[in-house]
Amino acid sequence: MNGKWAGSPETFNLVNPASGEIIGRVPRAGEEDVKQAVEAARKAFESTVWHEMEQTKRGKILMQIATLMREHFDEISKLETLNQGKPVRESKADVAWAIRAFEYWGGAADKIQGETIPVTSNRVTYTLREPLGVTAHIIPWNYPLALATRSLAPALAAGNTVVAKPAELTPLTLLRTAEFAQKSGLPDGVLNVITGSGAVAGRALVSNPDVDGITFTGSTDTGTQIMATAAKNVTPVLLELGGKNPNIIFPDADHKRALQMAKYAIFTNAGQMCLAGSRLFLHEAIYEKFLDELRLQTEQMKIGPGIDEKTELGPMVSRAQRESVLGYIRSGIEDGARLLTGDEPPADPPLRNGFFLKPTIFTDVTSDMKIGSEEIFGPVLTVFRFSEVEDVLRLANETKFGLYAGVWTNDLKVANRLVRGLQVGVVAVNDYLIAYPQTPFGGYKDSGIGYESGMQAINHYTRIKSVTINTS
Ligand code: NDP
Repeated sequence: MNGKWAGSPETFNLVNPASGEIIGRVPRAGEEDVKQAVEAARKAFESTVWHEMEQTKRGKILMQIATLMREHFDEISKLETLNQGKPVRESKADVAWAIRAFEYWGGAADKIQGETIPVTSNRVTYTLREPLGVTAHIIPWNYPLALATRSLAPALAAGNTVVAKPAELTPLTLLRTAEFAQKSGLPDGVLNVITGSGAVAGRALVSNPDVDGITFTGSTDTGTQIMATAAKNVTPVLLELGGKNPNIIFPDADHKRALQMAKYAIFTNAGQMCLAGSRLFLHEAIYEKFLDELRLQTEQMKIGPGIDEKTELGPMVSRAQRESVLGYIRSGIEDGARLLTGDEPPADPPLRNGFFLKPTIFTDVTSDMKIGSEEIFGPVLTVFRFSEVEDVLRLANETKFGLYAGVWTNDLKVANRLVRGLQVGVVAVNDYLIAYPQTPFGGYKDSGIGYESGMQAINHYTRIKSVTINTS
């Protein structure tokens, strides 16, 4: 906070999800700490030290953060795995993504510009893009560093000063990144990170009237509450919420790749992904064969601590998250879905203290079942069968969510029909888990408001001033 370690003497423990062991302790921010963090950000904004810095120089500082992160690549990747649980090769991909995001926005900082608008010959009319001021960032625990960077980098590039609250469970990599930011020349007070709970610190941050913009990634329920709070202060929100994403496979698709990606689409990060391909739609012509092979490959996945390079499926982030997923599994069985594989914590003694869960597949799922309609956020795949393009389109859209979809076919007509008909913000054709720092990412329906990543993100982090000069 304001360039210094600070905060409440009260602390809370951080746990390694692979072993249940305590790995660290951080301050539990209370309402007063949050107030001070917002004040520090406000002071830094008003000093103009950041938003009136030459834009190219601002960009260079963001680039330098990326450079320091690259120099500490293995260290940050391991830290992410120890704190969040995911396999370290996934953490490496996340850290690489975060570095790219700082580079992208470092390069973009001097390209955030207005436009000139022709009106009459004696008037010059143009727009200025100005930063919002102090922006608040509420970050979830599933991609602690990548999702923090996804919103912080554009906010900083645009000249805002920021207060970020990582999830209580997973603050470590963002705290480390804040150290790199300071070493890179980011002025004090421009980036403030507060550790604490959503119920206290998160709530205090989003309801602070001195916050000019809010970015939230997390559950639809919390997002809805935050939007209601923000409405009281007329604060703009960017919400990236949940998904119940369809992954649709036609018989003419590249079978091997579709199979491999169907597995990764749901079991990467133990399924704790907003873009998880959690509803798999298989065409009837390939249904039995595809499912047999998928079950076999799923049962062969190596489950273990994420820090082991050979691990394919790490633990879930917390005991509570595993309990929540086990509840969904029980409801699937009660509702009459067929359990093809999985459903329980692995019995091996070395894994007993961690929050592991076997990868699970249900068939005979319908959209009115809890497991067919709600975001499970765990390694649980629900499988549906279809025969006609129009039927799968209707089924895929039969959800309140609209974040992401995968379509596997080489038939351009079919692909085009689905791309245009799917009510989602992002579609991958013959691919899955694709999201670059330069491509817009956001949801339709209950999956969110606004777009992260790509130059579109700048719409949330700036406001437009319309200027007319009469020259007559
Ligand atoms: P939340 O949406 O509650 O948490 C996400 C972030 O919001 C965390 O930083 C949390 O802090 C914070 N938060 C919680 N309550 C408030 C509040 N009132 N005001 C401000 N910030 C708040 O998700 P959970 O961790 O409870 O997970 C529950 C479910 O949400 C998951 O099972 C999953 O379905 C979904 N989820 C979806 C994500 C996505 O990317 N789509 C990401 C995470 C969860 P803290 O954790 O410190 O309490």
